[in-house]
Formats: sequence, structure tokens, C-alpha cells
Amino acid sequence: MLEQIRIVLVNTSHTGNIGSAARAMKTMGLGELWLVDPVNPIDDQAIALSAGASDILERSTTVATLAEAVADCGLVIGTSARSRTWSWPMLDAREAGNKAIAEAPKHKVALVFGRERTGLSNDELQQCHYHVAIPANPEYSSLNLAMAVQTISYETRMAWLAREQSTDAEPEQDYPLSQDLERFYVHLEETLLETGFIIKPHPGQIMTKLRRLFTRARPEAYELNILRGILTSIQKTGRQRGDNS
Ligand code: SAH
Repeated sequence: MLEQIRIVLVNTSHTGNIGSAARAMKTMGLGELWLVDPVNPIDDQAIALSAGASDILERSTTVATLAEAVADCGLVIGTSARSRTWSWPMLDAREAGNKAIAEAPKHKVALVFGRERTGLSNDELQQCHYHVAIPANPEYSSLNLAMAVQTISYETRMAWLAREQSTDAEPEQDYPLSQDLERFYVHLEETLLETGFIIKPHPGQIMTKLRRLFTRARPEAYELNILRGILTSIQKTGRQRGDNS
């Protein structure tokens, strides 16, 4: 089950942090590391700080964008040291570990970590189903990147150990993959442009607000198919009307 869990580091500056994160992962039994646009590639410093976890560095995958790193995941959890202006579904570190393990039998799960100085951008945070903040000292809440990886990986391991001992059934729901959700948002925006609900030069915040709504509702795969069908039917009617006029 731990094999289904992917640690994603976004635009990391210090290669030492990448090495330390690999070590943190390996101690907790996690092995899949993805690097999104790292400032510097893996080097001697990263290998030195990984202290025997260099196999994780060797097996890591580097991609250009967060969307590529989470495309095949059904659950994406983003970490943040502080809450942002508009609220998003939130989990604490323990709940994040539990959720990751509960859904791991169904699909890949990504745990996403941000830049050392500025964390994850709003756009990146909007690609996550949930945000998790480690409830640190409110006056000094920003952990070192690899320490944050350690903490979340520990909670994931604890949840896994607890599950190994329980006999609970697996979750029933089938959630869409990240890439299917992104396709839905493109379809939704395209339809709203066609109906004139969104006007191209003045899109405003409507897509962000709709993303927030659908993130909160978390449609299952078949529900997303119904929504896609509705959009297609709206487009068809609109296009027929367009033909007739
Ligand atoms: N000023 C940045 C801090 C970045 S710390 C910010 O506000 O987000 C680098 C990364 O470590 C963060 O992007 C996050 O992935 C992780 N991190 C640090 N402290 C954290 C905390 N208290 N809870 C969750 N993640 C944390």
C-alpha cells in the first residue's frame, strides 16, 4: 500500500533537502519520489544527505509541472505552512495520513511539498483535493522541507500500521484521476464561454470558485461522467441554436 504513495517536491532550491527528504521517506517505508522542476539536479550533496537512501534518488522522476506529477493520481494532498486567503478542504497531518492509506488500495496518492522560501503557489494548491498544515507553533510554523516530509511520512506510516491490524473493508468509492478532473475543468470553462456565462476578457474568479466547489464536493468517477454529459448536452443545444439563427 505504501508503494501507492508518491512524494512530490516542487521547485526545490537546495539539493541537500532533496537528499534529506529521500532519507525521511525511506525510514518510513516510502519509495516513490517525483521532482517538479528542481532548481538544481540531484548532485553529490543530495546523495551525501540521503545517507543510504540514494536508491530513491536514482529511481526518482523529474517533470516540468505539478500537473504532470499528479496526472495519474486519484488523491492529491498539498502541504502549506499557513492557511491561504480562500479556504480549501483542510486536513491535519494525522487525517492526511489516514486518508492517504484509506485510498491507497484504489489509486495513487500524491503528497505535495513546496519551495523552501515561498511554498506552493495558489495555482498549485488549487490542483490539490486537500491542504494539510502541520499544526506547528503559530508564531514559527514553517518547518524545514525535509522535516515536513518526515512528519507527513510518519503519519502515513502510523496510519498504515494501524490499518494492517484492522479488518475494516476497503473504501467503495471510485474517484476520478487528477487528469480527468483537469479535463472536466477545461470542458466546464469551454461550455461557460460558449453560453456567455464567462466573458473571455473578464473571466474573474469564477473558475477558481467553481474548482473550490467541486473540490469540496469531490465527485466520484461516475458523477463526473454525468457532469461531462450535461456539459456536452448544453454545448449541443447551444450549437444547434447557433446553426438555426
Ligand atoms: N513560507 C512558506 C514556507 C515554505 S517551507 C509557506 O508559507 O508555505 C517549505 C515546504 O515545507 C512547504 O511548502 C511545505 O511543503 C512544507 N512545510 C513547512 N512547514 C509546514 C507545516 N507547518 N505544515 C505543512 N507543511 C509544511
